Amino acid sequence: MEKICVDKDKCIGCGACESLEPDVFELGDDGFAEAIKDNYDKLSDEVKENVDDAIANCPTSAISTKETEE
Ligand code: SF4
Repeated sequence: MEKICVDKDKCIGCGACESLEPDVFELGDDGFAEAIKDNYDKLSDEVKENVDDAIANCPTSAISTKETEE
């Protein structure tokens, strides 16, 4: 699967990703974003587009996707 990852060392907690796609991104208690749904392959096309936008618009390039074996 293609897994959505947020690098908490890079995240500055701006909330842009959560605004773009709250079904996938959420600011945690620590103030940094996390992917609450991280299986990119299972998202609808509309949500995938929003995730792509979030990746492109994250000011610190903290969001990425990577292939995993699961
Ligand atoms: S857009 Fe980037 S920096 Fe902002 S909260 Fe999301 S992951 Fe963190």
